[in-house]
Amino acid sequence: MRALAARGLSLHGFGVKITGLARYADALVSSDSTSWSLRGRHVPGCTASHRSESNCLRFALAWHDRLVCSLDPSAASTTRAA
Ligand SMILES: [Zn+2]
Repeated sequence: MRALAARGLSLHGFGVKITGLARYADALVSSDSTSWSLRGRHVPGCTASHRSESNCLRFALAWHDRLVCSLDPSAASTTRAA
């Protein structure tokens, strides 16, 4: 990934796992994954209208914040749900 990024390519990490992001997130300009939604399928909903958290914005944003903090602990003060 770094070799490709060094050639000036703007790389998107489609489906890159957390371990991959930990290794080379600095070489990516963006990434996405459905991991949060898959996990959310097994979490009871946060409101009566959510049967599970698989499509919940609040759950997704909390997942994102935890991921960002795990990759860069100094980002903890900049996340929404810290
Ligand atoms: Zn929810």
